[in-house]
Amino acid sequence: MSERLVILGSKGGPAIRPGGPSPTSSLLEIGDRRIVVDCGLGVSRGLVEAGLALSALDLILITHLHSDHVLELGPLLHTAWTAGLKHTVRVLGPVGTKAVWDGFLASLRYDIDLRIEDEGRPDLRGLVSIEEFGEGLVLDEGGLAIAALRVDHPPVTECYALKLSHGGRTIVFSADTAYFPPLARFALDADLLVHEAMHPAGVDRLVERTGNGARLKAHLIASHTMAADVGRIAAEAAAGHLVLNHLVPADDPGITEADWTREVRTTWTGPLTIGRDGLELMLPQQEQKGKSHEARHTA
Ligand SMILES: [Zn+2]
Ligand SMILES: [Zn+2]
Repeated sequence: MSERLVILGSKGGPAIRPGGPSPTSSLLEIGDRRIVVDCGLGVSRGLVEAGLALSALDLILITHLHSDHVLELGPLLHTAWTAGLKHTVRVLGPVGTKAVWDGFLASLRYDIDLRIEDEGRPDLRGLVSIEEFGEGLVLDEGGLAIAALRVDHPPVTECYALKLSHGGRTIVFSADTAYFPPLARFALDADLLVHEAMHPAGVDRLVERTGNGARLKAHLIASHTMAADVGRIAAEAAAGHLVLNHLVPADDPGITEADWTREVRTTWTGPLTIGRDGLELMLPQQEQKGKSHEARHTA
């Protein structure tokens, strides 16, 4: 089977606009696993458009509980259930993930009970297993290892970068974080580093457009990473390929892919892809490690 990373939603923040990108979610198919990383609004649609049968969902990872990363967790699992899910889906997330799921189940109780009774479906509550994790090794099974590193995303304290390793390949997701040098050590020699990013001129334009400018800018700078600093992390980690994701801003026509590239190129000379919804990157096969990756746009 093809092993790939698909960026399903590439924008930072919960807002959506006509024709614009969706909040954060990704699909990683590696080994025989189908792993969803974060469940921002649009994740279910994104997975279907990427060719994944929702009933084949396997493992879901949540980096932190900001809504642009978790809003569609419950709806995704519910939609997979109505699509014929029969096996248990594991959800790994920080403390609080179980409360999010339980709250969703409570809000949809009428529909869930009705479908069990009326359509003879298995009980959704028995098909999802939620495991809350902290820093360290999160999962190690069947050749897949997942480790978590707490990153710097105030005021959220439970926010984790995730490192997934399988068959000699390593993929790291930064989660949301301010410039955080320990992440470079965590991501050392990763084949793919998927890192959140802000564009300085884009942030200024964003701040100009909103009424709450100064406060918004202070929040963004304290808890997210400027593109040039993302390049510093990638260089320090000697990453095989840097993918910019969780873009702020993601939907300002005045900030183009060339603008993002110019910022990152001040600090990073290696392979670089600017994330967009539907972007697909094939993973290196074990014997091909070190070769550059093929990128293509699928949606
Ligand atoms: Zn976010
Ligand atoms: Zn966040």
